[in-house]
Amino acid sequence: MATIAQHDQTGRRESGAAPQRFQMYIGGQFVDAAGGGTFDVFDPATEQVMATCPAGTAADVDRAARAAHRAFYEVWRGTSAQERGRVLFRLAERVRARRAELAELETRNSGKPIAEAEFDMDDTATCFEYYAGLATKINGDVLPVPVPAVALAMREPMGVAGQIIPWNYPLLMAAWKLGPALAAGCTVVLKPAEQTPLSVLRLASDFEAVGLPPGVVNIVTGDGPSAGAPLVAHPMVRKIAFTGSADVGRQIMRNAADQLKRVSLELGGKSPNIFFSDADFESAIDGALFGVFINQGEVCSAGSRVLVQRDIYKKFVDAAAAKAKTIRVGSGLDRANKMGPLVSAEQRDRVVQYLRVGAREGKVAAGGGVPASHTRGWFVEPTIFYDVDNGARIAQEEIFGPVMSVIPFTDEADAIRIANATQYGLAAAVWTRDIFKAFRVVRELEAGIVWVNHMQPTMVEAPWGGYKASGFGRELGRWGVEEYLETKQVFINLDEKPIGWY
Ligand code: NAP
Ligand code: MG
Repeated sequence: MATIAQHDQTGRRESGAAPQRFQMYIGGQFVDAAGGGTFDVFDPATEQVMATCPAGTAADVDRAARAAHRAFYEVWRGTSAQERGRVLFRLAERVRARRAELAELETRNSGKPIAEAEFDMDDTATCFEYYAGLATKINGDVLPVPVPAVALAMREPMGVAGQIIPWNYPLLMAAWKLGPALAAGCTVVLKPAEQTPLSVLRLASDFEAVGLPPGVVNIVTGDGPSAGAPLVAHPMVRKIAFTGSADVGRQIMRNAADQLKRVSLELGGKSPNIFFSDADFESAIDGALFGVFINQGEVCSAGSRVLVQRDIYKKFVDAAAAKAKTIRVGSGLDRANKMGPLVSAEQRDRVVQYLRVGAREGKVAAGGGVPASHTRGWFVEPTIFYDVDNGARIAQEEIFGPVMSVIPFTDEADAIRIANATQYGLAAAVWTRDIFKAFRVVRELEAGIVWVNHMQPTMVEAPWGGYKASGFGRELGRWGVEEYLETKQVFINLDEKPIGWY
């Protein structure tokens, strides 16, 4: 096991290519921040500054919200659903055409392995295509009423949507937000995470060519307090869609309350990945590792609590540990590496703190430190703690790194009890070859998604979101578009003398 070495807290500038200067995108123009400030964006594998971005503030948010407001009333809400769909189809085509370039940028900025970034680009395109098709399937209802009238429920776009996204799936999270909003007829002010604003800004260079009118999508870069908070507070923004931590989610909900602004929140989790002893053993080990180590564990639905039935527990821990030690950690650009660096020095330090906590709360089966072989880059070893009590901090707090906590259970009831004993409820998985048991457990789990004999694949057609402290509202599928629609009742009287009262 490697030790927890001290690394620099900040990025380096001393070598390599000069940082590239990015601008934000407001009203169809690439612009600097009104205040002229910039911030550094890092390559987490080298710790070097790879780009600078404008440090957006309330003035930039205001400019973007006004552009989105104007575009909504003057253009986008009057654009036919067919045309909105065609714009999204063309956007998807651009993502496919630029797959290699965007994936490389995503890997350099976020750290994730290039194969995962390529997968994200395909998912991003598929998401735009799905909502391109859905744009023309948004329709209302005609209601049977007991009076001579036609009663309608019409669906209308809400208006300007403020969208705030995290750094773990930068372009894909942007697509999950932009796709349904644009299909619904909303215009957008998007704030990417300060760590990873590059891929969506790069894609924005195609917005005009695909036919997005100026102001329909605006991107304001900057940090949460300076750019995210003013977006939540802006009176022209009708709705906030947020993905990120539960703490910031709570803050956003509070700040949106004054204007009774609509909010949808996709927050984190501490998702149980449950293995019964009758599960296929080899698939189970792979499923446990994939469930928590994909994307360096920086996944809201990470299967970070691995619940294992007692009769296979020892064998399971040994096999999982042996396999975890074979995971090659290093630059995401090298295809031989299966795990990249964490996104930032801050996140690496957070995870390292949890490794120290874990060493007290559980036993180390694999990893437990930063890899000794790397003197640069915000890497952490794939780590497995076992004999963890479900009440321990490493079983209750979202770590957002490659850290698995293995917890033994006796029987079905015990597994369900432990699985649900968390504030969160985003995801869960159950592994068994007994279909009856699988369905019994599925019914009892309090989570927005339950996988059976798998963990992590998420299709754009199906709903995504949390129970409990994992948030509310659903993204993806037809549920995703609902979050951007208002419902208007229309009553059309057919009685020539409707009011015989006076
Ligand atoms: P975060 O702090 O919740 O940030 C998510 C987004 O919200 C970022 O764009 C952030 O901006 C913005 N933000 C922060 N404060 C805000 C405020 N007061 N008003 C409006 N927007 C605000 O998440 P993070 O810093 O990226 O990571 C911290 C933890 O969040 C992670 O360790 C993990 O537990 C969790 N997380 C969850 C998910 C998920 O998918 N559920 C994803 C990422 C992180 P800046 O970051 O640019 O300042
Ligand atoms: Mg942050």
